[in-house]
Amino acid sequence: MRARGEDEEIRDAFLQNMRKRPPKPKVFVSKCLGFAACRWDGVKVSDDFVESIKDIVTFVTACPETEIGLGIPRDRIRIIGRGKKKRLIQLNTQRDVTKDMQEYVSGLIGSLGDDIDGFILKSRSPSCGIKDVKAYPDLKSEKISGNTSGFFASEVLRRFPKLPVETEARLSSHKVRENFITRLFTTAAIRARRNKKRRTAK
Ligand code: SF4
Repeated sequence: MRARGEDEEIRDAFLQNMRKRPPKPKVFVSKCLGFAACRWDGVKVSDDFVESIKDIVTFVTACPETEIGLGIPRDRIRIIGRGKKKRLIQLNTQRDVTKDMQEYVSGLIGSLGDDIDGFILKSRSPSCGIKDVKAYPDLKSEKISGNTSGFFASEVLRRFPKLPVETEARLSSHKVRENFITRLFTTAAIRARRNKKRRTAK
């Protein structure tokens, strides 16, 4: 349950949004969702929802897999194992990129700080997928051991538990979109108020 002060902050931010032009939310989007052809197969996927909000938000994008030096196109990576023991390994080369990804993700999240209002991440990706990523017991198995979160997404969920975080797949639902947009603008209003308070306190 939220503390009373936090509820009041959310209510005030919502009322502020209703009264005047709201601050522009800052949204992190997986780069392959319309910004670059950086998927493992070199394909760029366009997304209607991301396209539709381009004039009302500021986008921040990155592709964790290309940022750690995996090329385009590239050998696919797979999550092996579950929980704290899960690893990120390239299928054919068997290269373990777990540490590279963890270090990159930690730096990326650190650079976002508290200057971000929400995330739209690519579903099913071993890096960006939220909950629908296949985990395998080993490299050879075609049978999955269950579903898990991608390496970047799991860190986003851990570090930003109060922010709206969705995949493009879930955002095909009107209800999920509505909820995402409401939370996004409320979060942006809270961030704007905090930044203002910090500036006036200096
Ligand atoms: S899902 Fe993430 S890691 Fe994969 S191509 Fe898209 S941005 Fe890059």
